[in-house]
Amino acid sequence: MIVLNKISMIKYNPRRYLLRKLSYYTKDVNYKVIVIGGGHAGSEACAAAARMGVNTLLITHKKETIGEMSCNPSFGGIGKGHLMREIDALDGVCGRICDLSGIQYKVLNRSKGPAVWGYRAQIDRKLYKKNMQQELLENTNNLSMLFSPVEDLIIENNPNEIAAGVDCKGVILSDGTKINADCVIITTGTFLRGRINIGLKVYPAGRIGDAPAIGLANTLESLNLKLGRLKTGTPPRLKANTIDFDRCEIQRGDRCPLPFSFMNDSVWINPKDQLPCYITRTSLKIEDIVKKNLHLNRHVFEEVTGPRYCPSIESKVLRFSGRQHQVWLEPEGLNSDVIYPNGLSCTLPEDLQEQLIHSIPALENATILRPGYGVEYDFIDPRELYPTLEVKKVNGLFLAGQINGTTGYEEAAGQGIIAGINAAAKVLNKPPLNLSRTEAYIGVMIDDLTTLGTTEPYRMFTSRAEFRLTLRPDNADQRLTAKGYSVGCVSNERYNVMTNVRERMMSAKEVLKSIRKPVNTWRKALDLNLSKCPTEKSAWEMMNLCDDTITINKLAQVEPALSHLASDKVIINRLHIESLYELAASEQYEEIKELRQNEALVIPKDLNYNSDYLSLSHEEREKLLAVQPQTIAAASRIPGVAPSSVFRLLRYVKQKSNVESELINSQRRF
Ligand code: FAD
Repeated sequence: MIVLNKISMIKYNPRRYLLRKLSYYTKDVNYKVIVIGGGHAGSEACAAAARMGVNTLLITHKKETIGEMSCNPSFGGIGKGHLMREIDALDGVCGRICDLSGIQYKVLNRSKGPAVWGYRAQIDRKLYKKNMQQELLENTNNLSMLFSPVEDLIIENNPNEIAAGVDCKGVILSDGTKINADCVIITTGTFLRGRINIGLKVYPAGRIGDAPAIGLANTLESLNLKLGRLKTGTPPRLKANTIDFDRCEIQRGDRCPLPFSFMNDSVWINPKDQLPCYITRTSLKIEDIVKKNLHLNRHVFEEVTGPRYCPSIESKVLRFSGRQHQVWLEPEGLNSDVIYPNGLSCTLPEDLQEQLIHSIPALENATILRPGYGVEYDFIDPRELYPTLEVKKVNGLFLAGQINGTTGYEEAAGQGIIAGINAAAKVLNKPPLNLSRTEAYIGVMIDDLTTLGTTEPYRMFTSRAEFRLTLRPDNADQRLTAKGYSVGCVSNERYNVMTNVRERMMSAKEVLKSIRKPVNTWRKALDLNLSKCPTEKSAWEMMNLCDDTITINKLAQVEPALSHLASDKVIINRLHIESLYELAASEQYEEIKELRQNEALVIPKDLNYNSDYLSLSHEEREKLLAVQPQTIAAASRIPGVAPSSVFRLLRYVKQKSNVESELINSQRRF
């Protein structure tokens, strides 16, 4: 066990000690919440519990690996960016840290509506860790740290006979030290009985350089929790100056990067200094290398499910033969010579990884700095959890992150913040924070996990959300900050920023709604391509009617009373998005209502899931054919089948049954 104390820090840097709060584990403190694991779930969990005002202890292996990005050097993306905005709206840390650590910011999906834009950034690994460690260690009150493996939990029988199960009352470290707490949150990622695979080599590890968590896995099993096994992998890392970037397509960041945090107007880096990424493709030679050496690739032939959405190059080759696969070459930092070849996750023996890399045109001379590897690990069936993320069978024990069968930093962080808030709320005797599917992507994720479970690493997508027109990245603060404030995890500063924005938006909307003119007047003045119409419409309705062609700036040219709004850039951009979705969102509510009313509708056994009308994804078709759901309700419960696809299925089944009943009726008539 390593226990750092204030005295050692005073010797190390007295000036810093005077200026900043430093807190390491001390025996005499009565910790209320203990968080095990300083990854992405753990960082959010301990920061949230501490923000709620309870004495919190983070116990993790090493200080240096707090905030470690085990795989890709990026945060956000489609669906994942939504999670980050929601975490930020609850005053979480990862969004703010990304605004301080990004080296290329790019909003994905820009060609589609803002409801599905994916905020994403390439991150400087070292800077992210440094900023996260500083945030937790120096800027977070009520939080202490201890660097040691946790081996076991303190479990006691519940003294209250009515309450079911047992209580978790603290942790036991590897040296036998017991630390008591009212609640414990486990966020140990891929570490439960983790095993690394490279070729035929297998050895126990949570990830490269870190020991697995065996004792904790045994404890969780002995508590009668259902465990499963999953796997994931990471690509080899390459030396930048050995890559022929001239043979690649260049990808630059956005000229005006959008920050992840609602508290920031801009990101730390000068947009001109952002680093580019590059795109190349595999050659067909790669197929030979993968297929001929399958017998040397234990991770690929073992019977453990891997990530469908971040598959290894081996599984892509085996599934989609004859294709050239895209590879993104991503820098790992501003001053780093390491390139992360996104898309080339592999577990072949090291010499064959070299052959594989050299078979790619731009990488013919690339040097491998570290080989790729795979990791397989235990996870807990998330149906063992309440939506608060507390374990049903163990009072006071919460789980968050990859331990619950998810994959990705953002999914982990989204669960971490909820577990942290709810553990603290339990200690404080406050009602828990439960987010529903209608309120947040975090709610969708937790509902999917706790009601459906998962059989493969779960990743967030916008298609998983029924209400994606209202669950937008632009309005996460308006949806969640007040809720977070009332439970106690949001600062006054953030709450005031949010209410100020809300008031400005409401008064601007009122002005826009109050200014009414005949459509013909708007049409002529703005040179709109609209048919003649005698009725009046408000400026707000015109924005709604004309999609994104009508902005407040344009309307202000016709109506001077609007010109003062045009200067409030934050508000006009946000109102513009809101106006675009107002009508569509209400139509979406109607669709969902129809779906709920028809849940009992029977799906014919011979239904053609290949019909163009259904336009199902490959994954959805595969799953529907495998499950053969008998009703619409059963189809809607299949993980990975999007709510929008279930709605098309409903319409299709209805249409078919209408055609059939018409046919029967017409036959009767003759
Ligand atoms: P982690 O970030 O793994 O953090 C776990 C923390 O718990 C660590 O700090 C560890 O030191 C600590 N810990 C563990 N056991 C103990 C113990 N007994 N006592 C004290 N501390 C302990 N995600 C993707 O989205 N795409 C990918 O392609 C991808 N590939 C991956 C490849 C590899 C090899 C790995 C390891 C992960 C990969 N991931 C990928 C997953 C991503 O890294 C995780 O989803 C994310 O980091 C999970 O966050 P977490 O907080 O749950 O766990």
